[in-house]
Amino acid sequence: MNIHEYQAKQVLKQYGVSVPEGHVAFTVDEAVEAAEKLGTDVVVVKAQIHAGGRGKAGGVKVARSLDEVRTYASELLGKVLVTHQTGPEGKEVKRLWIEQGCNIENEYYIGVVVDRSTGRVVIMASEEGGTEIEEVAAKTPEKIFTEVIDPAVGLMPFQARKLAYAINIPKNLVNKAVKFMLGLYQAFVDKDCSMAEINPLVTTKEGDVLALDAKLNFDSNALFRHPDIVELRDLSEEDEKEIEASKYDLSYISLDGNIGCMVNGAGLAMATMDIIKYYGGEPANFLDVGGGASTEKVTEAFKIILSDPKVKGIFVNIFGGIMKCDVIANGIVEAAKQVGLNVPLVVRLEGTNVELGKQILNESGLNIIAAESMADGAQKIVELVK
Ligand code: ADP
Ligand code: MG
Repeated sequence: MNIHEYQAKQVLKQYGVSVPEGHVAFTVDEAVEAAEKLGTDVVVVKAQIHAGGRGKAGGVKVARSLDEVRTYASELLGKVLVTHQTGPEGKEVKRLWIEQGCNIENEYYIGVVVDRSTGRVVIMASEEGGTEIEEVAAKTPEKIFTEVIDPAVGLMPFQARKLAYAINIPKNLVNKAVKFMLGLYQAFVDKDCSMAEINPLVTTKEGDVLALDAKLNFDSNALFRHPDIVELRDLSEEDEKEIEASKYDLSYISLDGNIGCMVNGAGLAMATMDIIKYYGGEPANFLDVGGGASTEKVTEAFKIILSDPKVKGIFVNIFGGIMKCDVIANGIVEAAKQVGLNVPLVVRLEGTNVELGKQILNESGLNIIAAESMADGAQKIVELVK
């Protein structure tokens, strides 16, 4: 789960990580009021969306008067920001973070991630802050320093100090940078984060070490023990279809293509997406209805696929092991009855109760194209959506 920059800053503040003062605003008047309250000469108006790259896309504005705050706030609120992380459709700005302007001396990068190769939490730091870290990693990987953290003792001060020196934090600010990193790591562990990224961390002319940006991702499997974090969830930033799917405990991920997929089992779902791609098509989603899904669950899954305007055809690929083919067939028929089926549907059924499943589909009056195998089905649906 993702949260907004300003929420992440509030979480980090509880761990002694320094952040600039600021206030959230949902309207232009609130933005001006927030700037008045801050009372600094320079305030920064920052669009709050669940995506980075806002600066380059015009979502971070430096205002030198209340009039400028008003102008920028009215420009940004309601605007659809397109950044390299939003995809071409962009994200509408519904909240602003009004923050005190900082006298930046230098920008750095600090990230905390779970590293699969070592099976540990790793902290990364770079002098190349403010820019895309992916680019730094690709072009100048020697500029990224990492420390692997032993879970038994946590991030040790000497490790943080080593990083601070490696990225050339001025000597007189190293202690502040160490405190910053220790706080960030503690927040990461306490709140079950899957990622924490401060880009940029800045040193200021006044000698502060601050998080100027903050991104926290949380492991959704651990959210049950963090009601305070769940409260920060902004559903309007999430894919509606994914929210709907999570209500029914379906594993659903929205993708960019036009072939809707309904599959049981994550492995088969991956293989189905692969084979669609192999035959030149693009899947519109990943969907695993799970092992013992009920007719109701299958109905909801099918409705979610049909609600996606991008979907120009559907491929149902089921191997009935624990899942029974007749349950799938009933779910499809029920969903089609409820919302109407107006795109081609290719179905490949195999396994438990396959004959009964086929019979239900044949007698449903729905226009269904039967497939003999996975490859046959994939080829057929790719051809049909062309
Ligand atoms: P994003 O990563 O989405 O582009 P950031 O919060 O990192 O957004 O802001 C982009 C840039 O804007 C920063 O690298 C920094 O140079 C500048 N900036 C952001 N917040 C402030 C602030 N409070 N004071 C001064 N400059 C800021
Ligand atoms: Mg940033």
